Amino acid sequence: MKPVIGITPGIGAFENRGEIFRMEISYVQAVEAAGGVPILLPPSGAGVAELLGIVDGIIFSGGADIRPDRYGDDYVHEKTYGISDLRDDFEFALLEAALRADVPILAICRGIQVLNVGLGGTLYQDVPTEYPNAVRHSQPWEIGSFEHPIHDVAIERDSLIGDLLGTTTVGTNSAHHQSLKRLAPGLRVVGRSADQGIEAVELPDKRFVLGVQWHPEKMFQAHEEHLRLFAGLLAEARTYKAQKALGTVAAD
Ligand code: MN
Repeated sequence: MKPVIGITPGIGAFENRGEIFRMEISYVQAVEAAGGVPILLPPSGAGVAELLGIVDGIIFSGGADIRPDRYGDDYVHEKTYGISDLRDDFEFALLEAALRADVPILAICRGIQVLNVGLGGTLYQDVPTEYPNAVRHSQPWEIGSFEHPIHDVAIERDSLIGDLLGTTTVGTNSAHHQSLKRLAPGLRVVGRSADQGIEAVELPDKRFVLGVQWHPEKMFQAHEEHLRLFAGLLAEARTYKAQKALGTVAAD
């Protein structure tokens, strides 16, 4: 049996039908390509413990911004957009429970921000206006453009991501107007762009908690090295699943 990887979708709207859950298919394709079975975890207030009984790993996906007062900001920047308390509440609850159970986690774009804020860190609400001398972190809008790297990320050796990539530099896409500011306790920075912005973090206390600010799910088909991040998640999910079957991890 393959590991089951839960993916958190975002929230949008569809014509006159009200709110919908939305997520690019590329996340599902990346999990499938890495040997996992994807399952969507729609944000709700119904509880997260039951979900942890189903999944062997979790991807926190990209999307809109976290409510700024969750990390102590007393203002909302004019560029901060798409705040959803439903999604924030759900993802922070899921993160806390998943960390407690040591479930393997890959946190992508908004996901790395959820990881940092959930552990007590803060964010730049708008990199272009709040981070001096930033490189360009916005991808051109044409369909298909997200598979192309637009900046490099320097990768730390002797890290999860360094071992997976086997290199100290990786070209990445970039589509984020926010980024990590004060690093949360326990996190380790393992990737930075040329402007010293934080692009990748890990939580060394856990078996596999990796956050990246870029979108590997949109690059893996054209650039194989980005599939290795999902392969790393799947390898740990296989171990976790086996331990869960033996009753050696708490599946709360
Ligand atoms: Mn970037």
